[in-house]
Parts: sequence; C-alpha cells; structure tokens
Amino acid sequence: MAAHLRLRGTLALVTGGGSGIGRAICARFAREGAQVAIADCDEAGAAQTLRGLQAGDHQALRVDVGCAKSVADLVAQIQARFSRPANVCVNCAGITMDEFLLKQTEEAFDAVLRVNLKGTFLVTQAVAKALVASGASGGSIINLGSIVGKVGNLGQVNYSASKAGVEALSKTAAKELARYGIRCNTVLPGFVRSPMTDKVPQKVLDKFAAMVPLGRLGEPEDVAEVCAFLASDDSRYITGASLEVTGGLFI
Ligand code: NAP
Repeated sequence: MAAHLRLRGTLALVTGGGSGIGRAICARFAREGAQVAIADCDEAGAAQTLRGLQAGDHQALRVDVGCAKSVADLVAQIQARFSRPANVCVNCAGITMDEFLLKQTEEAFDAVLRVNLKGTFLVTQAVAKALVASGASGGSIINLGSIVGKVGNLGQVNYSASKAGVEALSKTAAKELARYGIRCNTVLPGFVRSPMTDKVPQKVLDKFAAMVPLGRLGEPEDVAEVCAFLASDDSRYITGASLEVTGGLFI
C-alpha cells in the first residue's frame, strides 16, 4: 500500500488536536487516509484544525482530559458519530505551569499532573475499554511524553514529573494491553516550535537550539511523522517503546 495511505480504515482520536503538535498529527493522519476525531478543551482551535484537514470524514469535539465524565462523554460521542470506537489514540493534550522548585505551588503541581498524567490515564483507559468491548482486533495508543521526563529541566518540576509518569504508564499499558493486540508507545519530543514553547524566553530556546546536534529546534511535523509510523502497521512489532524525537538533544 502506498505510504500516504497507511492509515486507511483507521479512526484516530487525537487529544490536544486544536493546537501545535496535535494539529500537525491530525493533518498527517488525515493525509494518510485516517478519519480523525480532533478533541481539545479549546473548541475554536479544534474547529480550526478541522477546517484545515484534507477532505474526509472528520469531527471536532470538546474534551477536558482531566475529567473522567468528560472523557466518557467523548468516547460515547465518537461511538455515536462513527459507529465504532477509535482504534488509534494520541494523547497529546498537555500544559506547562513553569516555576522553580522552591517557588512551585501545590495548585500548579496538581494542575499539570491532572492534565498531563491523569488525562493520559483517563483517555488511555476509556479508549482501551471501548476497543476491547467492541471485539475489534488491534489498536495503537501513542502518548506524548517529553525528553525532560528523562533528564529534568530547570523550572519544570511538575511538568518533568508528569512526563516521566506518562512513560511509565505507557510501558504498563503496553504489557497489559498486548493480549488484546493493542500497542502503546511514548514519543519523547525535545524542543518543538508551538504555542507551548512560544511562552519560553527566546534566549532559552536559542540556548537549546545551539545544543541540538541536528542544529535546529523541532517542528510539529517532525513529531507527527513519528506518530503516523507508530499508528500504522509499519510499527506492528513495537510496543512499550519510547522514541526520542529531539534532533539528538541530550544523547
Ligand atoms: P500546545 O500547542 O499548547 O497544544 C496543547 C493543546 O492541548 C492545546 O490546544 C490545549 O488547549 C490543549 N489542552 C490543554 N489542557 C487540556 C485539557 N484539560 N483537555 C483537553 N485539551 C487540553 O502544546 P504542544 O507544544 O502542541 O504540545 C503537545 C504535547 O506535546 C503536550 O503533551 C506537550 O507536553 C508535548 N510536548 C511538547 C513539546 C514542545 O516542545 N512543544 C516538547 C515535549 C513534549 P489550551 O491552549 O486551551 O490550553
């Protein structure tokens, strides 16, 4: 099958699909033939992603990934709209609330863990339950971790902890879901240009860019292409893996 149609027959749920890396993943998946459910707490962002997609049967949906009821509603809406559960899921919704450890508040710690880690748990569990209940064979769950979950980063005690948790969650999900033919992998981006990193001071971005062996910051499409590979049958023997997409940063 032609590479650009690797995802034909796939229904992909992409959380955080209304911005940055999630939007690039939606575009890439649609180009490869997938139907895409674009889910985000930013409804306008999700609608904008939808307008930019290649023609096909796609849907923008609202979700708060940190709320179990909202996630259950999302999965039910996908079932009603497409008459089947998503067989690919990318957990891309994420937030930062950066502050040094000595100044980090309990509220900021909880808020970041709620979206990045609990949100990944809730969506992974709900999607896997729906897939298993449907009796469908196979599936691929792709979680967005971060290289800072492995190496830490100044000012990101909450964020780096949440992303380390995502990687451990993915490995456990991979072990438990393998018997159902569902794979689960983590993508670890380095520093990627997006609204999230627009908040980072330019001098900090310049410092990291200078440290990247491949000589530049990442683009959302660099991550989207790896997600398309992990969503496709080309990665059929890969589960529980963490793929660094960093341009070689911190190797
Ligand atoms: P982004 O542009 O800020 O996109 C994140 C999206 O998630 C936004 O639309 C955001 O909506 C949405 N979101 C936030 N909280 C949510 C919730 N509770 N429920 C549903 N959606 C929610 O960030 P990005 O750079 O594309 O990052 C995407 C993922 O990659 C994140 O998990 C991030 O941690 C990870 N990552 C990014 C980088 C990087 O350098 N950019 C590096 C490593 C990992 P609002 O805008 O309304 O908050």
